[in-house]
Amino acid sequence: MKYDELFALLRRRGVLWPSAEIYGGAQGLYDYGPAGARLKRRVEEAWAAWFVGLSDDFYRIDPAEILPEAVVRASGHLENFTDPEISCAKCGAHFRAETILEKFRPEGVDGLTPTQIGALLKEFPVRCPNCGSTELSVPRPFNLMFGFDFGAAGGERAYLRPETAQNSYLAFSRMWDVGRHALPLGIAVIGKAYRNEIAPRQVLFRMRAFTQAELQIFFNPSSFPLPFSSVSNEGLPVLRVAQRAAGQEAPELRSARSLVDEGLPEFYVFFLVHLYRFFRDVLRYPSEAIRLFEKSDTERAFYNRIQFDFEVKLESLGGYKELGAVHYRGDYDLSRHSAGSGKDLSVALLGGERVLPHVLEVTFGVDRNVWALADLGLVADGDRTVWKLPPYLAPSTAGVFPLIKKDHAVEARRWLDQLQKAGIDAEFDESGSIGRRYARMDELGVPYCVTLDHESLAAPSPDARTATLRDRDSKTQERVTLDTLIARLHASRVAPRPRPLNAVG
Ligand SMILES: [Zn+2]
Repeated sequence: MKYDELFALLRRRGVLWPSAEIYGGAQGLYDYGPAGARLKRRVEEAWAAWFVGLSDDFYRIDPAEILPEAVVRASGHLENFTDPEISCAKCGAHFRAETILEKFRPEGVDGLTPTQIGALLKEFPVRCPNCGSTELSVPRPFNLMFGFDFGAAGGERAYLRPETAQNSYLAFSRMWDVGRHALPLGIAVIGKAYRNEIAPRQVLFRMRAFTQAELQIFFNPSSFPLPFSSVSNEGLPVLRVAQRAAGQEAPELRSARSLVDEGLPEFYVFFLVHLYRFFRDVLRYPSEAIRLFEKSDTERAFYNRIQFDFEVKLESLGGYKELGAVHYRGDYDLSRHSAGSGKDLSVALLGGERVLPHVLEVTFGVDRNVWALADLGLVADGDRTVWKLPPYLAPSTAGVFPLIKKDHAVEARRWLDQLQKAGIDAEFDESGSIGRRYARMDELGVPYCVTLDHESLAAPSPDARTATLRDRDSKTQERVTLDTLIARLHASRVAPRPRPLNAVG
């Protein structure tokens, strides 16, 4: 689906819309409606079940979103979390250097200094995208954090967290004591992060307030035991730096084992497989739309030793977009926060050896994936539009309808009530033709519709009554009792889970 068409549908169905819409919208801020909020929560739950559920030593925490200045100074964000910005002297608009240069330099400007970017501006016939003027400023580093005065006394600065990861580094020492004094230790955060983007765009792809799901795994660099043999034959669609340098854009299917043979650490490849399986088996992205894009020395953040971005091809955005990543960050984070806080963050292992843990980070953009689920899942089927969401992600599991308003509504309400009592999200709809009600549920990705009709009321006892159950994807219909229905809907809600690392046998 095209971008405009997709966003219009999501607005119309109450999935999401621009924040402060009645004031013309606030740039880079979006609100989720009822269907969107439920879908987003389900994506978060599926992520937590998949990643936090992987080990008894992985924990999810819910930390504060505000960071004192000392934290962002130590992490390097105060100095380095910048995007080169260019302004137009004529119309006053501000742009990311990358946007101004994208026509001339499609590979982007990651890793270039403002001086180098300034040279590129002279080299190419660049113009202001807004007014066409050539009077553009020299690039300046613009810090993307939202900073503000903290406390009534003044003089103290604080920042909205630009990434959830920092909270996990701050919590490491506490969690070492709360947990079992064992490595690897995982700390996960799902929550909002904030960035004062110079030019927000593409709806959920460059937002000023957005939700991240991030897992930081702290491990002993000389020993990270994992059941690698369980993933070694998995094929991954990778695009390595060397292939990219040779002009290749399509990924190559490579086994996990062969990537290790080429020098990537087993623990790193293990988590590449794990994230890949989450995309393929839980979110059900078509594997041919996914590529694992390796970032080069100059492209990746300087503290990352290895970085593969998980990119998915989205029609609405005209190509591959980053939806998650695996970062090997070394000891950068804990050594910076040891120095910044004055607290030694190394830990004593069982044999008495002291280790400053390294960090493997698995990141996942929740909003971006909500958009991707819509982009990849909303398909035309004849004259209807169907959102082929996996049932365990769907905002509701069933729509419940009376065929004729006054005759069947009481019975439909009774079924709805029983479904809700059984913990199943279901919604009632008695407006318009059955066809229109199906169409609305199809567009929202609701996997089942239950219709109460004459036959439903014919059975003498309420327990023997049946309703028509219609499947969203196959459009098949069958008659079911309430008990069968509840069992069926419950089963559809179970998302795939990985085998835990601590599992025995
Ligand atoms: Zn201009």
